[in-house]
Amino acid sequence: MDYLYAPWRQKYFENKENTCPFCLDDTVNDEERGVIFRARTCFGVMNLYPYSPGHFMIIPYKHEEEIQNLELQIWQEMSLFVRFGVEILKKRLKARGVNIGMNLGAEAGAGIAKHCHYHLVPRWSGDTNFITTIGQIRVCGRDLQEIYKILKEEFASKL
Ligand SMILES: [Zn+2]
Repeated sequence: MDYLYAPWRQKYFENKENTCPFCLDDTVNDEERGVIFRARTCFGVMNLYPYSPGHFMIIPYKHEEEIQNLELQIWQEMSLFVRFGVEILKKRLKARGVNIGMNLGAEAGAGIAKHCHYHLVPRWSGDTNFITTIGQIRVCGRDLQEIYKILKEEFASKL
């Protein structure tokens, strides 16, 4: 496999080592961070390294690695917002399918294993192509800022 020099990811790794990037308690930089909504026990945020345009995460405010340690009300609210998310991705981004899931533990592929989080990845037919398979590169064909605005607007109606 070839390696792509990606210095813009340095920030990601620095964040990872020093502090938890998912402990976003203050709302000061919500817009800049791509926070989509803030519910009572969890929030939604755009994925800075999306698998597809519109890929976002639902994260509990509580810093917790083990999902079985999350209070039931947190888990239920997260599940509810996952459902809203699927609905919104289908309605507004015209996603034909959505991958939802969690990577529990670094061994399972979690980038930030210490703070559990849901991924929602909208899918369209033909959204993966040869360049992903051959070049290990993903092409993002839509304006992420525009998608952010759409998701934020839709979630505002769910709060
Ligand atoms: Zn955290």
